[in-house]
Amino acid sequence: MTGSFQNVLAGLAAIVGDNYVIDSAPDQEPYVVDWRGRYRGRAVAVVKPGSTAEVAAVVRYCADKRLSIVPQGGNTGMCGAATPDDSAFNVVIRLDRMRRVRDVSPLANTITVEAGCILAEVQAAAAAVDRHFPLSLGAEGSCQIGGNISTNAGGTAVLRYGPMRDLVLGLEAVLPDGRIFNGLRALRKDNTGYALKQLFIGAEGTLGIVTAAVLKLFAPPRSSALALLKLQRVDHALQIMQRLRGAVGDRLGSLEMMSRSQIEAIAATVPHVAIPFELTTPWYLIVELTDTLAGIDLNEPLAAVLSEALDAGLAEDAVLASSVAQAKAIWAVRHSVSEGNKRSGYVVSHDSVVPLERQAAFVANVEARIMAAVPHARVVMHGHIGDGNIHVIALIDRDRCRDPDATAALVAKINEIVDDETAAQGGAISAEHGIGITNRDRLARVADALDVDLMRGIKQLLDPNGLMNPDKIFASERRTTRSAGAA
Ligand SMILES: Cc1cc2nc3c(=O)[nH]c(=O)nc-3n(C[C@H](O)[C@H](O)[C@H](O)COP(=O)(O)OP(=O)(O)OC[C@H]3O[C@@H](n4cnc5c(N)ncnc54)[C@H](O)[C@@H]3O)c2cc1C
Repeated sequence: MTGSFQNVLAGLAAIVGDNYVIDSAPDQEPYVVDWRGRYRGRAVAVVKPGSTAEVAAVVRYCADKRLSIVPQGGNTGMCGAATPDDSAFNVVIRLDRMRRVRDVSPLANTITVEAGCILAEVQAAAAAVDRHFPLSLGAEGSCQIGGNISTNAGGTAVLRYGPMRDLVLGLEAVLPDGRIFNGLRALRKDNTGYALKQLFIGAEGTLGIVTAAVLKLFAPPRSSALALLKLQRVDHALQIMQRLRGAVGDRLGSLEMMSRSQIEAIAATVPHVAIPFELTTPWYLIVELTDTLAGIDLNEPLAAVLSEALDAGLAEDAVLASSVAQAKAIWAVRHSVSEGNKRSGYVVSHDSVVPLERQAAFVANVEARIMAAVPHARVVMHGHIGDGNIHVIALIDRDRCRDPDATAALVAKINEIVDDETAAQGGAISAEHGIGITNRDRLARVADALDVDLMRGIKQLLDPNGLMNPDKIFASERRTTRSAGAA
């Protein structure tokens, strides 16, 4: 390490303290590799500031030294968006120390939290005042609110409450030059000019570092009912959804679909998760109803709709969960999909969203085309069918992925099939995971030229030196030339 790198470490330590600057390779390891283990980068330091002022000071320092900044939350993202590149001029900024709940207001139905809060901690803080924070996803025990905002996370409750964008009332962010954007307002209505906070939601850390947010709360679900349905066809799930919406309206909280092949992948690789039902059909649908009133029997209306669905030939079988434990066991299967796939082979994952009525055709066409092009692939699918978002995943035997060039060509071939079919059905290639590094070339291929032009214009305005999470979403047009001397 050069003397100037030592100076950088000293400069960062002067801001956050020695204990919060990580420079040794073994200690940096969890922060320079993505969740899938696909990307590995390097960093001068991983820095953990303890306040918004410290984040701003670190960012100003990095801007001054022309060091790239990589904001990182829980590092559970699916697209390599929180992984530094291998240039060694990166500073990874983590907000693990910024986990304060600044305010909870049952009157305004809001919670104001620092961006390093783990999602599950925010859910618990809301529950402590008899409120509900509805964002829910498999990584909720480790992903952070800053990451959820920056990916506009979705998950299993979008059908009723919307994605993270719908749950953020206000936010605070440190801009790439170190200025602090103070949009931390709990106002339900605010038409004073452009809605600037929206820029940071889903921006994947490319426009600034989110340091705190005001989030919406809701009355907690006090009654619930859950069923697992066995289906032959995807469009049957949508017909069941339509019947449920007519019968129970907004009580329909979640509608999650898994292919048989998806569940088989979990059964084969995640030993601590038991599959509490027999696999007899190609598709499995989890339906959950909730109500904010206690003591409401939701099993009755659910059973009524399910019985109609069975009579109409829309489902082969339906199992109503008879206890909280049984409902949890069914959810455990759904929450294990990412783990199961990761253990099952090389994952070529997709996040397409298409109009609801096109979903069945999309799924059938994509699967047939992938199997025709790559017969050795295993196609598994799971997703949020009520949102039009089914994750199509091709699992490839790892032994076939030893050669990086051949693997890249294989992935490109599969991506092209999914992207073309997504476009043909009027959809978009990312519903909730974002672009990061993984999908950057795909975005360049399918995106509208004007959209990319506008996005680049916003990036240029806020980050003219291209230092904030460079090369994520799109390749940087202008990389600042740096050298160890400059650092
Ligand atoms: C088992 C499992 C299940 C999952 N299920 C879902 C799901 O159902 N739905 C879904 O949407 N996602 C899902 N994900 C993906 C992931 O959990 C989400 O994208 C999550 O929102 C990422 O949060 P994070 O804190 O881990 O962010 P990271 O992975 O650390 O970062 C993600 C992006 O946000 C940026 N970022 C992080 N913190 C900040 C900040 N404070 N300010 C600015 N930028 C920041 C990073 O630079 C990066 O671009 C799942 C992941 C796993 C492992």
